[in-house]
Amino acid sequence: MKNTRLIFPILASTLIANAATVYAGETDLASPDGRTVFAIWCNDGVPLYSISLGDREFIAPSPLGLRTNIGDFTSGLALKSVSAIDSISESYTLPNIKKSSVEYRATHREYTFADSIGEVFDLIVEVSNNNVAYRYRLKPRGETLCCLVESEATGFAMPEGTTTFLCPQSKPMGGFARTSPSYETAYTPDGAIGQNGWGSGYSFPCLFRNGDNGWTLISETGIAGDYCASHLEGGKGSLYTIAYPQPGEQNGFGSASASIALPGYTPWRTITVGETLAPIAETTIPFDVVHPLYEPSRQYQYGKGTWSWIIKMDPSCNYDEQKRYIDFAAEMGYSSVLVDALWDTQIGYDKIAELARYGKERGVALYLWYNSNGSWNDAPQGPRGRMNDIVARRREMKWLQQNGIRGIKVDFFGGDKQETMRLYHDILADANDYGILVIFHGCTLPRGWDRMYPNFASAEAVLASENLHFSQGSCDAEAFNATVHPLVRNTVGSMDFGGSALNKYYNASNESRGSRRATSDVFALATAVLFQSPVQHFALAPNNLNDAPDWAIEFMKSVPTVWSDTRFIDGYPGRYLIMERRHDDICYITGVNATDKTIKTYIDIPSELRGQTLTLYHDTDQLEGSVKTVKPDKKGRVHVSIPCNGAFVLTNRPD
Ligand code: CA
Repeated sequence: MKNTRLIFPILASTLIANAATVYAGETDLASPDGRTVFAIWCNDGVPLYSISLGDREFIAPSPLGLRTNIGDFTSGLALKSVSAIDSISESYTLPNIKKSSVEYRATHREYTFADSIGEVFDLIVEVSNNNVAYRYRLKPRGETLCCLVESEATGFAMPEGTTTFLCPQSKPMGGFARTSPSYETAYTPDGAIGQNGWGSGYSFPCLFRNGDNGWTLISETGIAGDYCASHLEGGKGSLYTIAYPQPGEQNGFGSASASIALPGYTPWRTITVGETLAPIAETTIPFDVVHPLYEPSRQYQYGKGTWSWIIKMDPSCNYDEQKRYIDFAAEMGYSSVLVDALWDTQIGYDKIAELARYGKERGVALYLWYNSNGSWNDAPQGPRGRMNDIVARRREMKWLQQNGIRGIKVDFFGGDKQETMRLYHDILADANDYGILVIFHGCTLPRGWDRMYPNFASAEAVLASENLHFSQGSCDAEAFNATVHPLVRNTVGSMDFGGSALNKYYNASNESRGSRRATSDVFALATAVLFQSPVQHFALAPNNLNDAPDWAIEFMKSVPTVWSDTRFIDGYPGRYLIMERRHDDICYITGVNATDKTIKTYIDIPSELRGQTLTLYHDTDQLEGSVKTVKPDKKGRVHVSIPCNGAFVLTNRPD
């Protein structure tokens, strides 16, 4: 993994003797292009900051500060000193995110706050073009070298005219088998400011539309079991504040505070701002400010796979059906099969070993499902009690390694407490010792994990494809959600959605009962590109080899799961979305439409592709898909039509 980080000072430090003598702008930190500006000051002992882009305010004056068990550091403070401005220049490669080669350019500055006793914390700030990331470094106090951080004043005040695109944080110990919060709630587009979800705020990431000025995305990154995860609390007018876990999570066990050694850090809080949605869709800030925690123990293999559970549910987790799905994966040229819950009792360890050998002969590896618990919910599915205890976990992982199992999917976590965040960390670190990839489900948002843990594959933390099976309402909202996820949940981390079904109905015989897919076949292809995850277990079924169009099957055989680059073209969350992803020289431009009107538009083809013959997968207004070759017109454009619940995919990959 290439990784160079160069830091050099570009402005001398400032020692502030008297806050009254600080001139406006003296303590600012501007991005390399000068357009994104972080401002910070103290007002009557309260630290405040704001963020602007161009001349427009995106984060209005907002509070900073922490409440700890060694002191309340939210008031009575002064900005004591400000460091020099450093310039950061870092290149890194990361094959498993939206962009495989990243050039991170930022400015870096540290602001030291003190109370009447002495220094309390540094605010460490990095500003790249369209992004601000900051975290606190808490200082030792006398001989005190540890503390509990109980809450934060840290806030994000939205300018007037802002609307919200948020999903509520669910209450603890609710939902299926008391597994919530499992980060599976729905987004409301253009919601009113000042609400507070279902009473417990909103899950990260949080998207805001600042009227006609643009967009703001707020999230969090860099948690390695060393801090609790947080979410945003509303209900305070235009102000949203950092909220720590709900005390009832994890069945009430474990603290809702963070426990740190001093000096110690909070996670990075990230704010991405843009006049358009492009900086939101293309940001790499969740990965820019974190670093790999360990070396990969092997070269991990990403790729596509099949998964019986999504169409055929628990009964399909039997030896014969999984063997059939191995054959299906081999026929598709896929490299894995995900064996879901209950394999321990419905197949058994010995027969799984046999399946793994059978798969190996066909170039298909297995992923196996695990229940994370534990003592934090009632989910009965097995295997249970293997991932929550270090001895049992490492014994299990040794068996997985001996049998050539490629990865695990661990489900049903217990919230955001530091206790739970440590479990994610421990599972990942142990799995790397045994060369195993990890997918999390029923889990919190991955916070920089794509870069921090070389064997992190993907995570759910989204209202995923299982809901398409469970309810017609989710099928009817599928296009709506597809216009939201790439701009919100999926832009800050790989998302294991498990979609791209080509069945008309979510049942084993594809007969007219149960949930009916409302979207087109081309839509299924489009989301294979729009939803980014280096490991994809699609919702395809063996019958699709006979009942789906050949062009759809051929597309699903060849579509990549890793990307060199990602570009936002046009869209509005909840309405429609057009984006481009590239895999080396192969370009995919794709669009989906959730509005009730057909969108007819021209796509500007990148100049280097204009001489090439392009393949266009497209829908009629009746959602009948077909494929044709097209050439850009004299202006270098291709005309596309996207009906409601339909899509298009335009690619230079030969058909
Ligand atoms: Ca789930």
